[in-house]
Parts: sequence; structure tokens; C-alpha cells
Amino acid sequence: MIPASPHSAQPEDWRRQYRELITDPRELLSLLGLDALAARIPDDAAGFPMRVTRAFAARMRPGDANDPLLRQVLPLDEETLAAPGFDLDAVGDLAARDARGVLHKYEGRALLIATGSCAINCRYCFRRHFPYGDEAAAANGWRESLNWLRQHPDIHEVLLSGGDPLALSTRKLAELTDALRPVDHIRRLRIHSRLPVVLPARIDATFLDLIGALPWPVVMVIHANHSQELASDVAAACAALSRQGVRLYNQSVLLRGVNDNIDALANLSERLFEIGVHPYYLHQLDRVAGTAHFEVEDHRALALHEALRDRLPGYLVPKLVREVQGAPAKMPLRVDN
Ligand SMILES: *Cc1c(COP(=O)(O)O)cnc(C)c1O
Ligand code: SF4
Repeated sequence: MIPASPHSAQPEDWRRQYRELITDPRELLSLLGLDALAARIPDDAAGFPMRVTRAFAARMRPGDANDPLLRQVLPLDEETLAAPGFDLDAVGDLAARDARGVLHKYEGRALLIATGSCAINCRYCFRRHFPYGDEAAAANGWRESLNWLRQHPDIHEVLLSGGDPLALSTRKLAELTDALRPVDHIRRLRIHSRLPVVLPARIDATFLDLIGALPWPVVMVIHANHSQELASDVAAACAALSRQGVRLYNQSVLLRGVNDNIDALANLSERLFEIGVHPYYLHQLDRVAGTAHFEVEDHRALALHEALRDRLPGYLVPKLVREVQGAPAKMPLRVDN
């Protein structure tokens, strides 16, 4: 079966879009009529350059310096301020590595770093300091990761993550999933990707063919923080994935100045429902150097989450969690953690 493409994209059109990112903050600000903000851009963007797709930038509101999408990608001088407690490896990823390209923290699940690349550099991301580029399982053809998986029959779910696993070509993804097929303790495949949101053309007919033909149930966790990210092209990509039987979830990060108010959070859940995606996690920020200005205090996060629970049906309320180093799971936020 050849599934319909979500839009009239040419084959491999997404590759071209992936190459034509906006990487100069001044270009983005000029597109938005916000040239005056250029004075607040640090010289070296703290070693983590701006990257954003044109599809994502097109959803920003011109003239609005506080646009919730712009704030997620624009390097600003706040990032260069030192903040106590904000470190380089906030989530303990260096300690959790079992084999090159594999992170094993939780029972039954292993995360495979399929590639270090992303189409977008989110300013709040832990990736800004983690050398995932060197770690990419892709670098050695996934040999070590696959060996590790074969030797761990207790792993039933493989998570493809990164970076962004959908930054790989469909041909590479087919190679990887072909190599996973003979590992018979795998029951589910999960893909964590922001590309359906920031580059929906990625969900093209070739990719949908691949996904539809996999031997396992496929879960995809997309990543959107604000309803304004979920434009009609994103909805079409999600609908196409659902038609292939993919179960769709969303994770978001609670970010000051982006989504730290009850209306933004409720609208995000409502919009996710409209496009067939279940709200899964609302993460407290990983305390990574350069991101302190995005942090929402725990007591405010809990109050917002309670307000959300009072307003929405239970299935539209994401779990509010924090990643705690060494913990056996993502931990529900409490007053004391
Ligand atoms: C977050 C994460 C998972 C998935 O956790 P779930 O609670 O199942 O979504 C698995 N492995 C690693 C290393 C993770 O960081
Ligand atoms: S890993 Fe996710 S949050 Fe981090 S930069 Fe890539 S897309 Fe953004």
C-alpha cells in the first residue's frame, strides 16, 4: 500500500528543507521585523548555534519579541549568565551509558542514540553540552548498540532518540530497523522526534511506507511546547502517521515565557487532541547550564498542573515529571524533589 503524502511534497523535499535552515539570528529577526533584538544576541551563542527550520519560523508572529516559538530558538544574552545548580550533564547521561550509542536507565527499555543531529537547536535542550555528535550509534553502523541489545533479552522496547532519529534518511532507518527485526525480545519500537512538528515534510510517503511495514507496534513521541507550533501541516503529518497505525504521544517542557500559564497549557492539550496526539509528559526543565532563565519554580509548576487537572478531562492532563539522576523512572514532581 502506498499511503498518501500529507502534502504535495516532492520526494526527498524534506532533505532540501533540512539543508535550508535559518542559522543566522539576524536573518530570523529581520523576517519578523524585530531587528532591534539583535543587540541581545551573544557573540558565539555559547557554542550552540541557532538552528531553526523555515516551517517552524513561519508560525512565529511578526513583530512579537515574546513569541513563544521565537523564544525557544533565539539565542539571547541570558544564556551566558552563570547559575548555581545548572551543570553540563544534568541528567546523568554520561553515567547511564552501557555501550556506545545506548542509554539504559529504565527497566525493559533501552534508548538508542540513532544520530546526534537535530533540525532545530532548542535553547533549553540538554544536548547543548552533551557530545551526542561523537556518540551517534550511526557512526559505527550501530554494531555495538545492536550487540548490546542482542545480549539483553530483558529489553522489550527500543527507543530511537538522539539528536533526532528522523534526521536520518529513510534508507538509514530501514537499515537500522532491518537489523532490529531478528532480535526477538523486542516487542515495541518507540521513536522520539521533534521533526513532525518542526519539519512535517519529513513524514513523506517513503517514510510512511517504512513505518507501516514494521513488525512491531510503533509509538511516536513528538515534542511540542505550545499550540501555535501545531499548524495544519503538522496536523496532516500526524493524521498520516495515525493511518499507518502509529500511536502518537507528545512531550513538552515547562518553560518560563513560553508555556508557563494555564491557558497555554490547556490550549496545547486541546490542540493535541484535535490532531490525534495524547499529552504524555510535561517535563520540568533539566538544569543545564545556560537555561536558568527558562526555569519555572516547582511550586508554580505544581500549581499550574493542578489548575490544568481542574480544567481538562483527565486524559488531556500530561504527567508532570522531572528527570532525577539515578531514579528508576521519570519522577512525578513533588514539593520536595
Ligand atoms: C525518558 C527515557 C526513557 C523513557 O521513559 P518513559 O517513562 O518510558 O517514557 C527510556 N530511556 C531513557 C534513557 C530515557 O531517558
Ligand atoms: S533533542 Fe529535541 S529538544 Fe533538543 S535540540 Fe533536538 S529537537 Fe530540540
